[in-house]
Amino acid sequence: MSLFSFEDMKSIKRETLGNLVPLELFRSVRLIGMYQGLPMKGKNTTLTVGREIGKSMSISSIDDLLQIFEDLKIGIPKIVRQTKEEMHLVIEDCFCEGLPVAEGNMVCDLEGAILEGALSTIYEGKISIREIKCNVNGDENCEYMIKFS
Ligand SMILES: [Zn+2]
Repeated sequence: MSLFSFEDMKSIKRETLGNLVPLELFRSVRLIGMYQGLPMKGKNTTLTVGREIGKSMSISSIDDLLQIFEDLKIGIPKIVRQTKEEMHLVIEDCFCEGLPVAEGNMVCDLEGAILEGALSTIYEGKISIREIKCNVNGDENCEYMIKFS
């Protein structure tokens, strides 16, 4: 039994400040604290953190997951190509949109790991997800390639 579930996170009783925190806080945790603050741009940590979050979500389908991703305002995922073996996802309005471009940096790995962790609860085979484009890298969108095997 986990101490906290994703459902628990929705239990919010803040009378004055409500259920939202500004995007700059999320970005600060993600980019200043993790990407910049951890060794190797936080690679292993973001993978573990993202997967754990994803696994805690009770999703019943891919559509379900994409809706949660948008509800959480991480970004608006659009499937641009899908076969049995892979799914190509474009993220519109990603949380990183508008940050200064820093070529060579793709910063949305944790969000990809969330997708991977959640998908692992509804798919029995192996899933690997790769971040292939990122606004911060100067690309037109953030994109993921997910492979099912
Ligand atoms: Zn992004």
